[in-house]
Amino acid sequence: MTNQLPKATSYLVKDNGNVKVHTLVSPAPMFANATHIIELPRELILVDGQFFAQYGQEFRTLADSLQKPITRFYVPHDHPDHYLSMGDAFADVQVYALPEIIESLLKNGPHELQQKQQQMGSLIAGKLALPTEAVEPGEEIIGGTRFVFERVLNTESPSALVIKLPELGIVIAQESFTTMPMPLLQGLLMAGKQH
Ligand SMILES: [Zn+2]
Repeated sequence: MTNQLPKATSYLVKDNGNVKVHTLVSPAPMFANATHIIELPRELILVDGQFFAQYGQEFRTLADSLQKPITRFYVPHDHPDHYLSMGDAFADVQVYALPEIIESLLKNGPHELQQKQQQMGSLIAGKLALPTEAVEPGEEIIGGTRFVFERVLNTESPSALVIKLPELGIVIAQESFTTMPMPLLQGLLMAGKQH
């Protein structure tokens, strides 16, 4: 695949010495989708897919540059800009989502992919990486860091996953409360440095 679109930008938005959070944002005309890598001491947790195949590949390149295994990829909800790009770049990764999001993506994902491929050709990934692992609300320690998973209902989509990292003061709420970029994320981006 050749790169046909302007490149995404990545930021180091948090570094507490133990855990780093990296965010990759597609250019504003390309929806400004923000996707995140939580870099734990020995593994990477990824949150949110991109829409265009190229940004899925750029997200993978960023993850690979950190030289740690990707152990989980969380898809927060079922809009195409959260999963459509992932199939080619993350075919080997375990994908997690709320059970109702898994069900929705199994049902609607293939048609959505086919439709977007017809409209946009090679800008769209060739296949899907559908979630197989169910996440339930609650707390989990992953790689020594506390993750809080919450289900948020009836916001931009009927059901969405919010991930909190209390020790880092981070809330990853992908468009759950508004369709505009999250003020929190903007604040993080302002504080972060480009790399
Ligand atoms: Zn959405």
